[in-house]
Amino acid sequence: MRTIAPLHRNAMNDFDASTRVSRPIAKRSTLADRREQVAQLFDDYSAGAWRPHLAEPSRAWGEPDAGWLEALFNQTQGDGVLAELRGALLAAAERRCLLCSAAAPSALDHFLPRTHHPALSILHLNLVAACELCNRRKGASCEADPQRQFVHPYFDRVPRDHVFLEAEPFAQDAISPLYRIVASPPVDMDLTSRLAWQLSELRLDAFYADEAIHYFREQKASWRSLADLGWPLLEGALERDLDSVESFSGKNTWKAAFLRGLLSHEGFAADPGRFLA
Ligand SMILES: [Zn+2]
Repeated sequence: MRTIAPLHRNAMNDFDASTRVSRPIAKRSTLADRREQVAQLFDDYSAGAWRPHLAEPSRAWGEPDAGWLEALFNQTQGDGVLAELRGALLAAAERRCLLCSAAAPSALDHFLPRTHHPALSILHLNLVAACELCNRRKGASCEADPQRQFVHPYFDRVPRDHVFLEAEPFAQDAISPLYRIVASPPVDMDLTSRLAWQLSELRLDAFYADEAIHYFREQKASWRSLADLGWPLLEGALERDLDSVESFSGKNTWKAAFLRGLLSHEGFAADPGRFLA
């Protein structure tokens, strides 16, 4: 749910390095024979063919070539020749999954799944630092519908300081946060609809709601003490928390949306004690 600058890196150097250590010789020479086609796909991807409906599925190249290309990804793991690439990608995400903006990333998700696009299995622009849950839920999803597409963490432009994620904190008087994507003028309709699809496809609304409920319960006692002294004191504390969250992580995290939801909830402002009992 956020975008960052991509790593500057020569993707064909990564391909050559991982090909060079491939055994046996038949595999190495087959991969070397595919080099030109792989380079073309890398160029196409960077030029816009990163959406599933625009990308050539290299699985169609057949076996064993497709399987061998897919297996190059193993070189990003353990003591593989591309292990440093994994570290660089995780570091670039600054400790937050690029798909949910919440949990710590520990996996590399293939933006275009390697089961369909094995030739892109080590392309750094196709590798996304993600948490285990997002990585598992995204799986091999590869929709042909242009609207049913994930937001690309490197090629899209998701604003950090314009609100597109909102939360309604309560249902009746009970904590039951409802998250949704809203239209925000700098975000075009295509991107807005893909953000909404990502929220639903990865079940981020439920994930965010769980986080918010946990946070609310943790804060409840201290917020109630402030509320006992009057809404302005609690309001000031919530505003300071919101400022700090927004300046650190932008306006579209579950916590920022939840705090804004609390601050703008008329019933909560009128009688916070009723919600914090
Ligand atoms: Zn995640």
